[in-house]
Amino acid sequence: MSGRYNTKLIKTRHSYSVQEISNLLGINKKSCFRWTKVGLKVLDPTAKPLLVMGDDLKEFLDKKRAKNKVELGENEYFCFTCKKAVKAISGSEKIQMTGKKIGKQNRSQQIKTGLCEFCNKKINLFV
Ligand SMILES: [Zn+2]
Repeated sequence: MSGRYNTKLIKTRHSYSVQEISNLLGINKKSCFRWTKVGLKVLDPTAKPLLVMGDDLKEFLDKKRAKNKVELGENEYFCFTCKKAVKAISGSEKIQMTGKKIGKQNRSQQIKTGLCEFCNKKINLFV
């Protein structure tokens, strides 16, 4: 399982039981239960079976994918709007000190900011 699920199959206004989700996405029920413990919203935690709204499931999977997937290349940023690695519009990048110290060497933390080449929103990267 590479963590890629076909979220197009999920109907946003439909509620799904864990069994249905596992059938739909081809995963086992255990992983689905685990998701409900790590942030997947359920309609009523005491209900049996547990029901999950389609749009919550979609959102959860999108976030999960974004987290797992992205490997940033040089000069790439993760854009939370586009949910992927993007490059900054050239000339928009700035480096600022955050004022925090990090690591054993007590380095000054710097943050690099720029504007996403796709959506034009601010993106940032700690360096
Ligand atoms: Zn973007």
